[in-house]
Amino acid sequence: MPTLIAAKPVVEKLRLTTEERSRAFRKKYGRAPKLAVVLVGENPASVIYTRKKGETAIAMGMEHVSVTFPDTATPDEVKAAIDKLNTDPHVDGILIQRPLPKSFKEEEVLYWVAPAKDVDAFHPENTGRLSLGLPCFKPCTPAGVMELLKFYGVNPAGKLACVIGRSSIVGKPMAALLLQADATVLHCHSKTPNLKQIANQADIVVVAAGKPGLVDSSYIKTGAIVIDVGIHRTDAGKVVGDVIFDDVAAKASAITPVPGGVGPMTIAVLLENTIWAAEQRESK
Ligand code: NAD
Repeated sequence: MPTLIAAKPVVEKLRLTTEERSRAFRKKYGRAPKLAVVLVGENPASVIYTRKKGETAIAMGMEHVSVTFPDTATPDEVKAAIDKLNTDPHVDGILIQRPLPKSFKEEEVLYWVAPAKDVDAFHPENTGRLSLGLPCFKPCTPAGVMELLKFYGVNPAGKLACVIGRSSIVGKPMAALLLQADATVLHCHSKTPNLKQIANQADIVVVAAGKPGLVDSSYIKTGAIVIDVGIHRTDAGKVVGDVIFDDVAAKASAITPVPGGVGPMTIAVLLENTIWAAEQRESK
C-alpha cells in the first residue's frame, strides 16, 4: 500500500504553531490578529467556506469579521467596503470569497485588497514577489501541498515534478513553489499534447485540472508521489478528485486522499498568512 498523504496530522501541527503565534501576538500587542472575509451573493459552497474560515480563525484565537453583500451589489459598493477594511488598523488580513458575480472583473478585483493584507496572495504584487522568490504571502492551496510534502518527508529537490493545471490560484503558484524547492517542473495544461507520456516521467505529479477522474494509473510512473488537488461532488453525493484513487494507489508510492488530502490545508495556510500579516504590520 502507498503512504497516505493525509492532511489531519499536518493541519494539527500547523494549528498548534498558529495558535501559539496568535497567543504571543495578543500578549505583545494587546489585540488579536483579525481576518475579514468578504462574500458577495449566496453561492452555497461559498457560504460554507466563508463560515468555516471564520470559525477556524476564532478557534485559533483570532478575530473574524464577515462582510456580506447580496448578489445584486455593484463592484463599486464592494470595493468601497474593501477600501475601508484596507485602512482599518484592526484588520490584518482580507479575503474576497470567489466566485464573484459576473459583473465583477477579476483583472480589476485582483488589485482591491492592499498587498499587505492580501492573505489569499492574489494581488499582482504578491504573485510577482512569489515568482521572484521574495518574502510574500503563501498562495494557500499550493503552499498547503508543499506543507504536505514536507511533513511526509518528500523533498522536491532534484525530482522531476509534473503540475497539471495552470490556474492563477493553484497551477501557476504550484509550479513556482516546486521550482523554488529545486524540482525540475513540467507544467501541463489543457492544450498539452501527450499529457500521459509527460506525467508518466515524473517523480511527483500534482493534478489540479478540475476534471474528475482525469488521471488513472497509466499517467503515473511506478513509485511516483501523487497529489490530487481536485474536488468534485458526484451526482451520488460522493466527493472525488481528479485522480482515480484506487487505480493510481496501486502504482504510486504515496498519494493524497480526496477528501482529507489537500482540501483541509488551504484554511490552515490562510490562517498562518493572517498571523504573518498581523506580525508584519505591527513590526513596522
Ligand atoms: P481551473 O478550472 O481554474 O483550472 C484548471 C486548469 O487545468 C486549467 O489551467 C486547464 O488548462 C487545466 N486542464 C483542464 N482540463 C485539462 C486536461 N484535460 N488536461 C490537462 N489540463 C487540463 O481550476 P482550479 O481553480 O485550478 O482548480 C482545480 C481543481 O482544484 C478543482 O477541482 C478545484 O475544485 C480544486 N481546488 C481545490 C482547492 C482545495 O483543495 N482547497 C482549492 C482550489 C481548487
